[in-house]
Amino acid sequence: MCAPWCTWTYPDLESWYQEAGRAGRDGLASYAFLLHGPGDDARARERLLSSYPSLAEVRQVYQSFADTHRIALGAGRDETYSLDLRDLAKRTQLHPASVLNALKALELNADIALSDGLHSPSRVLLTTGPKAVYELRINDQRLGPLLETLLRLYGGLFEEAALIEELRIAQHLQWSVSTVKERLSELQRLGHLSYVASNNAPAVTLMVPRRDAQRLMLNADALAARKQRASARLEAMIAFADPGAPCRERGALAYFGESTNSDCGRCDRCAARRSTDPDSRAKARWEADEGLHRPRTP
Ligand SMILES: [Zn+2]
Repeated sequence: MCAPWCTWTYPDLESWYQEAGRAGRDGLASYAFLLHGPGDDARARERLLSSYPSLAEVRQVYQSFADTHRIALGAGRDETYSLDLRDLAKRTQLHPASVLNALKALELNADIALSDGLHSPSRVLLTTGPKAVYELRINDQRLGPLLETLLRLYGGLFEEAALIEELRIAQHLQWSVSTVKERLSELQRLGHLSYVASNNAPAVTLMVPRRDAQRLMLNADALAARKQRASARLEAMIAFADPGAPCRERGALAYFGESTNSDCGRCDRCAARRSTDPDSRAKARWEADEGLHRPRTP
């Protein structure tokens, strides 16, 4: 689940487990794949570091926001100002996710309130079957590329509404944001999907008169705790994805506090161990021979 300013693609174990569980919802054997390559872990740690601002950076974001809107010291109480997150990121030279986290820290501190647009982004759910979507993707030059991009950027669109970012889709297609919105609405009118646009634009309301950024009373412990929690979630996922990890299911269950002493016997790690264990190979051969010689039951 990712907001417009976020380019984070590393899942956490909670969302991975939920997505993988969805694959087996029909009760049949299913496979969940996690694409993981060299350098991914380092990139994910780097991204995390750049997503959580320091106290100085929170002050910098506050200052820059106030400067952009020319809010004088002591003014602006209960006033609402539009927020262009990418512009603020450019001005502060911070990652957009870091700017958003700085704003959330200011919100937790009761200095500002963020609009619903920042908390509830737009959503899309495909309401037509995969066959109809496939045909549109192939045959419709106008709407096909949009469906293609939606499917590429967001998973599970046939099962439940995904949070989407019109800007990200527009950049991917090299279209304007308004074209993306118009064509999403067109697909909705044609009955192919349900599109709920974000109910209002990103905005910030000052809850207290503008202060001197250096005198903001910020909660350093709360800021550090949020970063710590995000880091723990990331490290759990990295350990889970490790090619040398023990049984994946055991790993996931341990993370959710359900320790078990037995391996699942089904995951890729269990299968790999079976294929290199001479006892298991002999047992498999014996079972195969048994199968061959066992009389067939009618
Ligand atoms: Zn296993």
